[in-house]
Amino acid sequence: MLTVEEALEIVLGHAQPLAPVSLPLRETLGRVLAQDVVASEDLPAWPNSAMDGYAVQAACTPGASRQAPVRLEVIGQIGAGQVFAGRVGPGQALKIMTGAPFPEGADSIVIVEETDGAASGSVRIFKPATAGDHVRPRGEEVRAGELVLACGRTLRPAEIGMLATLGHATVRVHEPPRVAILATGDELREPGEPLAPGTIRNSNAYALAAQVATAGAIPVPLGIARDTPEELLSKMRRGLEEAHVLVSSGGVSMGEFDFVADVMRALEATVHFDAVALAPGKPTTFATAGPRLLFGLPGNPVSSMVTFELFVRPALRKMAGATRLFRPRVEAELAVDFKKKPGRRTYVRCVLTAGPAGYRLTPTGTQSSGVVRSMALANALAIVEAPVDRLPAGSRLPAILLDFPEDAALPEA
Ligand code: AMP
Ligand code: MG
Repeated sequence: MLTVEEALEIVLGHAQPLAPVSLPLRETLGRVLAQDVVASEDLPAWPNSAMDGYAVQAACTPGASRQAPVRLEVIGQIGAGQVFAGRVGPGQALKIMTGAPFPEGADSIVIVEETDGAASGSVRIFKPATAGDHVRPRGEEVRAGELVLACGRTLRPAEIGMLATLGHATVRVHEPPRVAILATGDELREPGEPLAPGTIRNSNAYALAAQVATAGAIPVPLGIARDTPEELLSKMRRGLEEAHVLVSSGGVSMGEFDFVADVMRALEATVHFDAVALAPGKPTTFATAGPRLLFGLPGNPVSSMVTFELFVRPALRKMAGATRLFRPRVEAELAVDFKKKPGRRTYVRCVLTAGPAGYRLTPTGTQSSGVVRSMALANALAIVEAPVDRLPAGSRLPAILLDFPEDAALPEA
């Protein structure tokens, strides 16, 4: 059976970045840059005041104090958006607001709190200035020609603010993958529908659509396919027509009604694997049809979510153009004794906490792959290798941080 790493290598070998598109800046949150962003000008483009106060020559304020103020002539007043045409000479002060261009002749700002605040006549200065005080020099933030944001970077609010600052009304980003989501099973009913005996709620389609959206991709819901090859075939065909990626849940184990892999073949997809050595999620199935990727995830709700994290999410990030494909991992100490069946690598749903002694992991109750709650309570997946059957409290384990995006990974030392 393939290891997780081998399976992932196959998946990523088939996932290719989608074409770049130009989008209005407002529509780029969560998209991945398909261009390097180089500053075309210095930022700020001119020196300006960082505070409300007076632009002065520092040399004219020696020994200023509340008991012995220095008096300067107020030669005018400017706010942000205005320009002062003159020059600040010795013995003079220009009243200036935050963001207004710093005038010629002056070398520092005395903040208004250190003065009597006069707007005309003369102002009393209560504190000596030092050259450079409260002045934002030209190019302090960025120099013209500097690389500010590199291709492959996911756009967060701060990057969007940066792009606006640099004057980009539109941005080249990668087209996000469209991901068709299909739940399979005769027993499934939608939330809100009554439950007949033997039926359960379709939770996977909802969790998967949310996982798709969180990965920066676009979910395309296909609803529920009953367990017949015909219905699976028609819904999966539609998914391949409408999306770059098809993700199904259920129908990939050894049951009498598990037809997903056969239907993939009937759609002329090549099935690359139908089992991976992990728990939960062993029957994870992966196929390709030309550039389209097909994931047959197991039906158990935790298996579906965990295998999405491990295999689908990195593929979607790669298709979306991202350079970092994996969420950050940390090493942490197990807070309690832990037992598992030996034989497969196990991803354990845990709460990871940070304390003075470092990170600690506490499993979120029963680890049955049917218990969605164990996932809802978790913020990390601890990785326990195959041969291990028991781990004492204090053991150290690697853990994947589920609430941190890939770009939050700590830079490698
Ligand atoms: P299967 O792989 O189709 O045999 O499904 C394994 C288990 O997952 C069964 O208990 C199913 O009822 C359950 N299951 C399958 N699909 C879903 C779904 N969309 N939502 C919740 N549970 C599901
Ligand atoms: Mg089923």
